[in-house]
Amino acid sequence: MPSTRKWFDDDAYLAQCEATVLAAGPDGIELDATVCYARSGGQAGDTGTLTLADGAVLTLTDTVYADDRQRILHQVEGERLPRPGERVAVAIDWARRHRLMRLHTCLHLLGSLVPAPVTGCGISPDSARIDFDLPESTLDKDDLTARLNALIRAATALKTTLITPEELAREPDLVRTIGAAPPAGTARIRIVEIPGVDRQPCGGTHVANTAEIGEVVVTRIEKKSRSNRRVVLRFA
Ligand SMILES: [Zn+2]
Repeated sequence: MPSTRKWFDDDAYLAQCEATVLAAGPDGIELDATVCYARSGGQAGDTGTLTLADGAVLTLTDTVYADDRQRILHQVEGERLPRPGERVAVAIDWARRHRLMRLHTCLHLLGSLVPAPVTGCGISPDSARIDFDLPESTLDKDDLTARLNALIRAATALKTTLITPEELAREPDLVRTIGAAPPAGTARIRIVEIPGVDRQPCGGTHVANTAEIGEVVVTRIEKKSRSNRRVVLRFA
């Protein structure tokens, strides 16, 4: 099965690319390459535009994985679909994606401040949340906000490296999120590091430097269950 070249894995700042249509149907359009991040790991899928060979511009409403978790489906508004083999141009809504990248990276910082397993997270363009398995909550909104903004202002450059599943197995503590082990058969696993702060396998999109996140504010700390604490934040 032909797979999609995921440009967002190599360069989160790439906002457009050209591609050839592999298949197109009511579930979405498959391309041989894309800049669109497909919804996963709590991060929303990209929106944007798909420009067809005749110049028609389709609105991309979401990017998701098919049920097989392999194929990336670009969902578009309206009835018009491109033909298999057609060359198209894909462009993401960059302003929206950049907000997702900033908030996603901010959740790495937040995770470093709370010494508890992560049970889930969600990132939308306007706010982000992370759930911790934390029976006794000593978390304080103002304290977390101050410490987060200090980490952001430290202007630390992110680093990414690739390791093998065997190397990851030798460092099980790297996996912070319960149930988030990379799928079996993955040849290389991307490790995202904020030196001195956080290091973990992650397939999301990140900014290059923490300063790019900008000021944030922790708006809520909720008790979701006996052992689950949810922290919600947004841009200040
Ligand atoms: Zn990440």
